[in-house]
Amino acid sequence: TTGIDVERVREDFPILGRTLDSGARLIYLDSGATTQRPLQVLDAERDFSLHHNAAVHRGAHQLSVEATEAYEGARARIAAFVGAAADEIVFTKNTTEGINLVAYGLGHAGRVGPGDTIVVTEMEHHANLVPWQQLAERTGATLTWFGLTDDGRLDLDRLEELVDESTKVVALTHQSNVLGTLNPVRTIADRAHAVGALVVVDGAQSVPHRPVDVGELGADFLAFSGHKMLGPSGVGVLWGRAALLAELPPFLTGGSMIEVVEMTHSTFLPPPQRFEAGVPMTSQAVGLAAAVDYLEALGMREVAAHEQALTALALDLLDEIPGVRIIGPGNVADRGSAVSFVVDGIHPHDVGQILDDRGIAVRTGHHCARPLTRRYAVPATTRASFYLYNTETEAHALAEGVRAAQKYFA
Ligand code: PMP
Repeated sequence: TTGIDVERVREDFPILGRTLDSGARLIYLDSGATTQRPLQVLDAERDFSLHHNAAVHRGAHQLSVEATEAYEGARARIAAFVGAAADEIVFTKNTTEGINLVAYGLGHAGRVGPGDTIVVTEMEHHANLVPWQQLAERTGATLTWFGLTDDGRLDLDRLEELVDESTKVVALTHQSNVLGTLNPVRTIADRAHAVGALVVVDGAQSVPHRPVDVGELGADFLAFSGHKMLGPSGVGVLWGRAALLAELPPFLTGGSMIEVVEMTHSTFLPPPQRFEAGVPMTSQAVGLAAAVDYLEALGMREVAAHEQALTALALDLLDEIPGVRIIGPGNVADRGSAVSFVVDGIHPHDVGQILDDRGIAVRTGHHCARPLTRRYAVPATTRASFYLYNTETEAHALAEGVRAAQKYFA
């Protein structure tokens, strides 16, 4: 029903054909945690390592030039993917590092101080919560947050009250890794900018799954991870507005980011080099660029549509099961493909165990968002997350697995 030929796509992901120790065929519904990698990404990394590997930005030799071209080419490729300029793209280790870089930098740049507020939301992954707690503690600022509605959305009733003249930073996730909720970044950013606050967006769960253009988003910073978008682990991306990146001090210091070094003092290169101390992850950046090529060849609109169809099916099938409660919005139009649920009388870990016996890989637990699970008064949830390589058959298998868990524990 969508523009993606899933059977064709799955041929690019040999791991999806795996048989597990239980004898069951793998049904991978844990892309919210990390995604599988297509041959095209592995080939790009291997080709780089086989033919072009060298330390970038250094040697005078041919390989170093080739490696630098590959690395900078990857930066340009990824910049284009999100509608950014290449020098606004900083390679990081992952989303977590990108957010920490911004939180640290804004503190040291004097953007946040005593009496100021930093606004987050109750649905944040710890990666977009703890760095802001730390910044508030260091600077004497106050942390406040958007609460959540019962159906898993941000409670925007208090927008004007929460985001006011004292607000210096609003940090929020674009798409929740637990609820699936797609947040109205633009609306919140408009208010934030009207009061002079900066907007930091956690794109870990949105950039891999739908078209994201930094020109339209309304954010000032956007962080995401390669391993959640078909790319290698160990590489992530931080986008920031050029003028803001230029204002931030370095996060890590050392080689590759300095201009002049004297015994007691140094000056630093402009962004993005200022934020990339040491020899960077090179084959991983090249792999991530190949992942972006792969995603664009399919088309991000098609990816989003495919996921939406699977999410709608999974929500319908789970909804039909008595005793299953979805934690998150029921309307697929403005949500992503992370489907969290609880089953009456069965601990999520037990649900996960029964599903694992059937080859179905899901995540159980608090999903690094403890305040969120507390908000919905559940100890944990089971989360199935769908991606471009998942099928309707797999959504049916999930629902059958949940019914099997109910029978087993009845
Ligand atoms: N934010 C969200 C919404 C996430 O889902 C994740 C990964 N679970 C992260 C941040 C952290 O990503 P990483 O571990 O790659 O830094």
